[in-house]
Amino acid sequence: MKKALRFASHILGFEKLDKYERDYLHDANIRSSIYMGVIVMALEVWMLVRQTYSKIIPKYQAGGDLFDLFVKYTTKYWLFLLIGLGVMLFCVFQKDKKLSKGRFWTLIVIGSACVLYTSVLSLESFTTESSSITPVMAGIMNAMLVSIYLLLFLIGVTIVTYALFKYRKNKTIVPLEHLAIIGFTLVCLAFGIFVSYSDFWGGKEIICFLTMVLYVGCLLIYRPYITILILGVSFYGFYQVLLTYQNGLSFQEQEVIISGVARKIISGDSVNYITFFISLATICFAIYHGRLNEAKKSKALEKNAKEDALTGMNNYSSFPGLAKEYIQGLTENFSENVFLFLDVHNFKAFNDQRGFEAGDKFLIAIGKHVSEIFSDSLCARQADDHFVVLTKTAGLMERLDALNKLVHDYDEEILLGINCGAYHLTGENEDPRMAIDRARYAAHLIKNRFQTVYAEYDKTMSEEYHKRLYIVNNIDNAVHNGWIIPFYQPVVWSDTKELCGCEALARWMDPVYGQLFPNEFIPVLEEYRLIHKLDKSIFESVCRDIRAAIDAGKPVFPASLNFSRLDFELMDAVQELEDLVTKYRIPKELIHVEVTESALTDNFLKLNEAMNRIKELGYSLWLDDFGSGYSSLNVLKDYQFDVVKIDMRFLSNLENSEKSKTLIDCIVKMANRINMLTLTEGVETETQAAFLNKIGCTRLQGYLFGKPISKEALYKRIDNGELIVSEKQL
Ligand code: C2E
Ligand code: CA
Ligand code: CA
Repeated sequence: MKKALRFASHILGFEKLDKYERDYLHDANIRSSIYMGVIVMALEVWMLVRQTYSKIIPKYQAGGDLFDLFVKYTTKYWLFLLIGLGVMLFCVFQKDKKLSKGRFWTLIVIGSACVLYTSVLSLESFTTESSSITPVMAGIMNAMLVSIYLLLFLIGVTIVTYALFKYRKNKTIVPLEHLAIIGFTLVCLAFGIFVSYSDFWGGKEIICFLTMVLYVGCLLIYRPYITILILGVSFYGFYQVLLTYQNGLSFQEQEVIISGVARKIISGDSVNYITFFISLATICFAIYHGRLNEAKKSKALEKNAKEDALTGMNNYSSFPGLAKEYIQGLTENFSENVFLFLDVHNFKAFNDQRGFEAGDKFLIAIGKHVSEIFSDSLCARQADDHFVVLTKTAGLMERLDALNKLVHDYDEEILLGINCGAYHLTGENEDPRMAIDRARYAAHLIKNRFQTVYAEYDKTMSEEYHKRLYIVNNIDNAVHNGWIIPFYQPVVWSDTKELCGCEALARWMDPVYGQLFPNEFIPVLEEYRLIHKLDKSIFESVCRDIRAAIDAGKPVFPASLNFSRLDFELMDAVQELEDLVTKYRIPKELIHVEVTESALTDNFLKLNEAMNRIKELGYSLWLDDFGSGYSSLNVLKDYQFDVVKIDMRFLSNLENSEKSKTLIDCIVKMANRINMLTLTEGVETETQAAFLNKIGCTRLQGYLFGKPISKEALYKRIDNGELIVSEKQL
């Protein structure tokens, strides 16, 4: 029983709709009103022409006063025309939710037309209009039309008052749209009834009535029960009118003689009329539910596009739009609103140590805390462990402290916390992306500074900020104009000190900033997920350089290329390399792929595939910065590297520390046991080099043998005998 009731209430449209669904249906109505506005206008023009020919001209020729005739026979059609035009314009402009000047005047015109229209018509008497009308019928007509006009009058007054009132405040006028549509519905019904009534050719002219009813019932979407109500009243009223008519359409029972017996049967017209009503009602139901389903689907789609899959918060692409709306809703005190960029301190360490799944759970928890603490604000997850919030400044510090505490307490062993960068709104034209970028920059400045949770962007920051922005904005230029070039740092055999290869290290030769070093641009490019553009360009330059050396008959030696973790996400890095190697016909043993240790703890599957492919394709795979992260040994277990590059921090204080010596010794031996060779980076002294040679580390790299230099400078050193290219290359 309950189920049946629920079903009935669903079918009749009593169920509660959410804002999205209501807006969707409303937008559909707005569109329908535009079409209908046009149709109404066309009909009115037609009526005006007809009135002129059939009434005004003959009566004028019979001696009538032209102006009087014109007023008498056309006023209401002009007003209808005006209402049609007004509603159409109003709906066309509806994208702008605020009350602009154009919309304001449209509203004034529609409202006044409604008022005028009803005033003019109330002066007319229906009984005099057509001689074929019985008094009963005229009474019904009057009752119907008067009630419609009364409503219309009220709506007209409301529209004008509301528009005048709201115009001063420049607020949203969505309720007016509803009102305008209801008004328009009434106008259409009135028009349909009126035309069908005044052209009452034997009651057969019901097409205009039906058209209007069809419009109201099918083009406009009201809840089904409302539609049924509107249709029911209109049909019933009109039915009563038609009943009183004796000729033409007849709804009265008729007597027929069947097999000699007189029987009363229902008239065919009446059956048709009822059938039409039923069909129309059914169609209305179907249309309403069809539209509603569309709304639901489109809501689901939109939700997916706007939502961050992991945390369910807004995602970053939807944030700027929402922020714009937020800002538009403000009228004063802009600077009391602030953009926050939240970054989780040590998230990477958490991910490395606790694993990917735990990292995800942690992010979900943070997302929940952010959403709860800033429940009255606009929040989104930007990417990774970054969140953005647009909120009020009042009570901000307390909220941040609470959030920091929750994040801090999440894990007992790993030191966690948040960095928050803030940027205050300056006015209503603030660009949200720019604002977030500045907040992010402020956060970036306090990264890894544990005691500092909060930093505000201010103008003194802007020099470095602009440099970062410059890098982000100019990476394409830099690649295109050849500002990015590889420098080469020698790698030597530890026994002979002969050159066995080199590492390609990027330099950005900028026309504005001069030479930029990787620590200035690599982290920025990684943060903005643009690093692949740089790496691709470096790969190509290196291949080009090797090709040129081969063609020139110069000695060649392998070059190692640095792959960023993001390269594997942002492009098909292995394929890109393979294509370049093919294009420049480079022997594969001349390319070494360096992947940094910390890259390999993320996104296991995808990287695993990439690593395997690198090996399958015949490149030598090197593990960079070994010992600088948390999961070194696991990485050795999971992948087969040819060479392990021991991070340079092991060398600091080597001379005085037995412990450091033992550690490096063990690492080298361990690597050898699992069939991996070793290279130590950052070798700066002869003592270090001698020690490393003694313990069996086969390759060395560091300032002792040469800093990274240009290709020309490197070959100069080779040509003048400072560097000897080893015969042995593997
Ligand atoms: P890395 O791959 O560990 O490169 C070694 C860095 O140590 C280089 O810094 C090099 O100049 C420096 N270095 C070498 N020997 C010594 C030494 O004896 N003492 C000292 N103190 N430093 C030494 P650089 O060129 O500034 O590069 C920094 C980092 O930037 C690189 O670290 C690498 O992670 C990244 N990088 C450089 N070029 C590229 C590139 O083309 N693509 C990517 N993805 N990353 C790059
Ligand atoms: Ca490297
Ligand atoms: Ca390194």
